[in-house]
Amino acid sequence: MLTISILTLSVLYGSYDSRTGGVTSPHALLQRYRRQAAVSDTSSPSQVLVAGGGIGGIAAALALVRRGFAVKVLEQSPQLGEIGAGIQLGPNAFAAFDALGIGEIARGRAVYTDEMVMHDALDESLVGRIPTGAAFRERFGNPYAVIHRADVHGSLFEGAQATRRIELATSTQVQRIEQDDTGVTVFDAGGGRHRGIALIGADGVKSAVRRQYVGDDARVSGHVVYRAVVDKKDFPADLAWNAASIWVGPNCHLVHYPLRGGEQYNVVVTFHSRDKEEWSVREGSRAEVQSYFEGICARARQLIDLPKDWKRWATADRDPIGQWNYGRATLLGDAAHPTLQYLAQGACMAMEDAVTLGEALRVNDNDFGKAFALYQRSRVARTARIVLSAREMGRIFHARGVERLVRNELWQGRSPERFYDAMEWLYGWKVENCLGAPTPGETR
Ligand SMILES: Cc1cc2nc3c(=O)[nH]c(=O)nc-3n(C[C@H](O)[C@H](O)[C@H](O)COP(=O)(O)OP(=O)(O)OC[C@H]3O[C@@H](n4cnc5c(N)ncnc54)[C@H](O)[C@@H]3O)c2cc1C
Repeated sequence: MLTISILTLSVLYGSYDSRTGGVTSPHALLQRYRRQAAVSDTSSPSQVLVAGGGIGGIAAALALVRRGFAVKVLEQSPQLGEIGAGIQLGPNAFAAFDALGIGEIARGRAVYTDEMVMHDALDESLVGRIPTGAAFRERFGNPYAVIHRADVHGSLFEGAQATRRIELATSTQVQRIEQDDTGVTVFDAGGGRHRGIALIGADGVKSAVRRQYVGDDARVSGHVVYRAVVDKKDFPADLAWNAASIWVGPNCHLVHYPLRGGEQYNVVVTFHSRDKEEWSVREGSRAEVQSYFEGICARARQLIDLPKDWKRWATADRDPIGQWNYGRATLLGDAAHPTLQYLAQGACMAMEDAVTLGEALRVNDNDFGKAFALYQRSRVARTARIVLSAREMGRIFHARGVERLVRNELWQGRSPERFYDAMEWLYGWKVENCLGAPTPGETR
C-alpha cells in the first residue's frame, strides 16, 4: 500500500499550458483549494471505502471528502494513472468540476475547440457543424473542450489530495465484500481487509462490486476502437483544425482533435471487427487497423497511417439496471452504467454521479441510507438514456447505403440552435438541478 504524495503526482501528470493561456500556477491553485477545503471540512472521523481509483473513484473520493468523510481508495494497479488518450468534455463536465472545487485547475488544462464538425468519410461532404464558441457557452453556461485523460484524473486527484483526507491503497484488488449492522468489510486479493461505513463501487467496466451484487453479463459490441496520441509535427496540416472532428463511414468512423495546447493530436478510429471479440484493452497492431477502412476518402484515411503505437479497445456495454444500491454499497461510473463511447460521456457521467452522491449526502445530513436512495433515483434514468442513446448514435455514425443518405440529409444545413436544443437534456446538467424531485413527504 502506498500513499501518493502531491510531489509524485506532479511527476506523473506534470502541468500544461492551455491554448487559451493565462493559467494560474498549479501551486497557487492548490493553496487556494486547500483553504476552501479546510472550510468545507465538517470533520467526521468516519471512513468511506471507494473501490477503484479512476476518474469516477477519485471524483467520488473528492465529493466524500468535501462532505467531511475520510476516504480510503482501493486501487488494483500498482500506480495511479490514466491511459494516454484524449477525451471530450461537455459543459456538464465543467459544472461537475466546479461542484467538486477543481474547476479552475481543470479549465487550465483543457483545449477549447471552436466547433464540433462531422464529415462523410466516403465523399468528404460536410454533414454537420456545431459551433462551440460564445453562443454555445452562453447557452449551456460552460465550454466544450478536449483534454488528455491524465489531466482530468490528475486535476481530480490533486484536488482530493489537497484536502489531506484521502488514503490511497494501490496494488489492492477488491475481491469480496461483507456487510454488517455497522459497516462494510472489503477483502482484497492480497489477503488484506478494509473497513468502512459504506462502499462506493467505482471499479470500472469489469467491476468486482457489480459482479458480487448484480452478476450480469456484458454486451460485447464487436466494435473495436484504436486510440493514439500524435505529436503536432507529425500531424497533417490539412486536418489540424481546432475542432472535435469526426469522419463517419460505413461500419466505421474516425475522430481527431487537438490536445495540450495543440502540441498533440488525439486520433481515434473505430470499426466493426470481422472477428469474434471479447471485452478487452491491449496493444493494437498497425497491420490490423490498416486492413480496415477500405473506400474511405484519402484525407481521412491518412489518420490511420500516423501513429506508431496504438491502444486497442474491444468495446462492450451492459443493459441499464434500476438498482445500484445494495445495503451499504452502491455503484458509480462505469461500474454502474458502462456505455459505448459514441456520446463521449462516460467520464462526464462518472463525475456527475460523484457530485450527485455528494449532494444527496448534503441534503440528508450524511445519512448514507437516505442518500444512496436519492442518488440512485436521481441517476438511473439519465445514465440509462446515455447507454441507450450511445448505441443508437453508433448506428447513425456507421450508417451504410440509404441509411447514410438519410443521416446526411437529416443533419446537413441544420442550424446551431436546433443542435443546441437537442443537446439541452445532456449539456444542461447543473449541480442545482442534479437531484431527483422529492418524494411525497420528503423534506430538503
Ligand atoms: C474509446 C473510448 C473513448 C472514450 N471517450 C470518452 C470521451 O470522449 N468523454 C468521456 O466523458 N468519456 C469517454 N470515455 C469513457 C470514459 O473513459 C470512462 O467512462 C471513464 O473513464 C469511467 O471512469 P471510471 O472511474 O468509472 O472507470 P475506470 O476509468 O475504468 O476506473 C476504474 C478503476 O478501478 C480499478 N479497478 C478495477 N477493478 C478493480 C478491483 N477489483 N479492485 C480495485 N480496483 C479496481 C481500475 O484499475 C481503474 O483504475 C471513453 C471510453 C473509451 C473506451
